[in-house]
Amino acid sequence: MDKTNCPCQSGKLFSHCCQGFLSGEKRAPTPSKLMRSRFSAFSLGGYGGYLLSTWHPDYRGQLDEQELSIRSTDWQGLEVINSTQQGSTATVEFIASFNNIDGSRGTHHEVSNFVRVQGRWLYSDGTVLFNSDANDER
Ligand SMILES: [Zn+2]
Repeated sequence: MDKTNCPCQSGKLFSHCCQGFLSGEKRAPTPSKLMRSRFSAFSLGGYGGYLLSTWHPDYRGQLDEQELSIRSTDWQGLEVINSTQQGSTATVEFIASFNNIDGSRGTHHEVSNFVRVQGRWLYSDGTVLFNSDANDER
């Protein structure tokens, strides 16, 4: 059995946490679980299809699966600070940390927005409150 810890920092094994979502076996039941699974997808790389399928079509622009599969950031940590839900819209506030190429640690503080479409939570967009690397496009 896979004993890898989940990249979303839940403290659970990957196989007991985000893996089922990333494989398409299960749907993330809450916005914060969806957010965590998307973080895991970005963190691992190779899950562009999952990222695309959980991204509201009106908001994902020209992004394609190949592009989203590239592990462009060395994501290290995730802390979910707050989450709110009102009907079929929700927000999840989080701070994610990553390693810069020079080895220093960067942080990304964002409030992500989610909408529920046909019973399924999708990421729409986010407001970046702070990102220590101004050149980081994400
Ligand atoms: Zn996880």
